[in-house]
Amino acid sequence: MTLPEMRADCGQCAALCCVGPAFDRSSRFALSKANGTPCPNLGPDDACTIHAHLEARGFGGCVQFDCLGAGQHVVQNLFDGKSWRDDPALAPRMFETFRVMRQIFEALQLLQVAADLPLSASQRQELEQLQGRLWPDPAWSEVQVNAYEKSDLPEAVTAFLRSLRDSVQRPAD
Ligand code: SF4
Repeated sequence: MTLPEMRADCGQCAALCCVGPAFDRSSRFALSKANGTPCPNLGPDDACTIHAHLEARGFGGCVQFDCLGAGQHVVQNLFDGKSWRDDPALAPRMFETFRVMRQIFEALQLLQVAADLPLSASQRQELEQLQGRLWPDPAWSEVQVNAYEKSDLPEAVTAFLRSLRDSVQRPAD
């Protein structure tokens, strides 16, 4: 099984994180915006017009955000490289798929960290089964991604990770 690289490649994306999620004005964001609404700092070329000054301009939340590669995966592999700019009807579908795909990538990342622990054979087998379900072959379809949250998979990942907390011994200080 070849897992995704889990690194954002914004040049292969369509600024999904600058449009899809809502955020509230706070210490992390200098303004509020609704979900599905482009950030006013987003340029027409999908580049952030204040990228070099995000912290100074009050957008530390953007600096901290990491889609782990979910953005370009959604654009390139689920929407054939299209952008929400191409077709307004695509926009809600792309943003919703991105929202859920990011959860899938987060779960994959947590399992990747767990894979470095000294697991028993059965724990490793369970981990690999979960990785296989999170990164299936054939790959996720849009419909399948959007059914993820209601499936047993998120809870199965959480339960597995919780079980490691009790069974994996911490190294002595
Ligand atoms: S969603 Fe990810 S890949 Fe797309 S612009 Fe945002 S950080 Fe970059």
